Amino acid sequence: LRMELNHVERLGLVGQMAASITHEIRNPMAVVRGFLQLMREKSPSSLEHYYRIVMEELDRANGIINDFLSLAQNRVVKMELSGLHEIISELTPLLWADANLRGQSIEVRLDETAPPLMLNHKEIKQLILNLGRNAMEAMDEKGKLTLEMKRESDGVELYVMDTGPGIPPAQQERLFEPFFTTKSKGTGLGLSLCLSIMERHGGRINVKSEEGVGTTFIVFFPYAAERIEA
Ligand code: ADP
Ligand code: MG
Repeated sequence: LRMELNHVERLGLVGQMAASITHEIRNPMAVVRGFLQLMREKSPSSLEHYYRIVMEELDRANGIINDFLSLAQNRVVKMELSGLHEIISELTPLLWADANLRGQSIEVRLDETAPPLMLNHKEIKQLILNLGRNAMEAMDEKGKLTLEMKRESDGVELYVMDTGPGIPPAQQERLFEPFFTTKSKGTGLGLSLCLSIMERHGGRINVKSEEGVGTTFIVFFPYAAERIEA
């Protein structure tokens, strides 16, 4: 509980700053990117390598700003009664395409009989995409991603399972910290965002991981009625 409060406090500070900063930084960056593109077209090909690095780094910075902005929007979001399976169905083609490019396989097990939940579509889509992409990034081309829904007595659980290398225990404790990343091109904001999304949904997100076996993120959504009582 103490960890969660700290997380919320940290996001509160982050939120106040981010909203005003992001806009001011995004615009000049878009201009820089545009002119860089023009310069690239008129430059000798010997410079191509440098342009690629500059573009990648610009895009990475832009990714951080986008994630940061989502984190900052720690406001009350609009919740609608909806089926989790519908959201996952919408995302499946996207995840398939991503996995196919990597030569990985995907299995999706939906439960269409699960009661509807109070959700914000956009946020839950982002959550599932973040978890799915992390899983794919962790695995080699023989990897398999499984999404599974399970109805429980008090809510619905979503399992995002991978057959990747797993996460060492010392790292597991830090996963949800803003900017914690082990990737050279990572922002370290994906899981932090997932945690704040689940806090807003009155749910939970947990990780179970075994080195050499794989990692499972377990996301719990309480039933709408449970939330009204709470
Ligand atoms: P990013 O993906 O930008 O690094 P995230 O917040 O999404 O940031 O993830 C933080 C870190 O958690 C990753 O850098 C990685 O070390 C670890 N991680 C997340 N998901 C997995 C997974 N499925 N398997 C192994 N490691 C993971
Ligand atoms: Mg990520």
